[in-house]
Amino acid sequence: MAANVRNETALPHKHIKVFEKDLFLYRKVSSTNRVAQSLARSGIIEGTIVLSSMQTSGMGRMKRKWECPAGRGILMSMIFKPEISLKLVPQLTLLCGVVAAETIRKITGCQADIKWPNDIVIGGKKVCGILAQSCFSNNELSYVVMGVGINVNQTRDQLPPDCRETSTSLKLEVGHKVSRLRLLEVFIMLWNEYYALFLKRGHSFLKPKWKAYNVTLGREVSINSGDGLRHGLAIDISERGGLIVNFPDGLSEEFLAEDLSLGRAHYG
Ligand code: ATP
Repeated sequence: MAANVRNETALPHKHIKVFEKDLFLYRKVSSTNRVAQSLARSGIIEGTIVLSSMQTSGMGRMKRKWECPAGRGILMSMIFKPEISLKLVPQLTLLCGVVAAETIRKITGCQADIKWPNDIVIGGKKVCGILAQSCFSNNELSYVVMGVGINVNQTRDQLPPDCRETSTSLKLEVGHKVSRLRLLEVFIMLWNEYYALFLKRGHSFLKPKWKAYNVTLGREVSINSGDGLRHGLAIDISERGGLIVNFPDGLSEEFLAEDLSLGRAHYG
């Protein structure tokens, strides 16, 4: 696998710059996150973006898959080496959600919302997934790879069969083809602005923006813990980007993204 990844990184189809960011374009990779991780380890500069027309093993959280037919979506991974406190790292996923939701709103006029922690939904249907992967060494952050998959021009038949009813694409929502290049440009422009503000102001910058777009707070959520299914009310996000849930016994608990999946039932 490592050899494949090195091979892929050696052969981008094109290298372009968009708003000062280096974009490595590939026709086909195993996963843009894998290629980006390999580039990050080889010392590539912060902010580099890997983009591919297709992935043969696109990744979601918890070993789930991200599927998208060639050329129909945006499949990209950004590489960062931010000098931030470790507790801010999980919030980069939430920041990326804000940028993705706002980009989709600007380009399509559709109300794109954030479902904690990493999904963007339109009318409850998933249109974008985000997968952040961090690498630490000696308790210090070496790099973060932020993978973003956006369903852009899929027809209904081209959405994954197991989630066809619970997902959508921008084309399906607006009724016509959407420019992936324009979407990418707006995404990068917004990311540059918001990332810089997040590095300066941290949680106090992120929280109000995230709250404005989120559709999770105020909802009942089901938590699948070792003792069975528990139901509670999502009431806030924490400084670590965790979800704070209030249970009927009056106690509140914080859940981190890596421990919890809200499933699709609440939003279908
Ligand atoms: P869920 O979507 O159930 O809340 P999650 O947020 O943990 O789960 P992700 O890591 O964002 O999941 O993405 C993986 C999941 O998304 C897979 O389980 C799959 O069912 C679904 N999926 C895969 N490809 C797509 C796609 N193109 N559009 C929408 N959903 C997809």
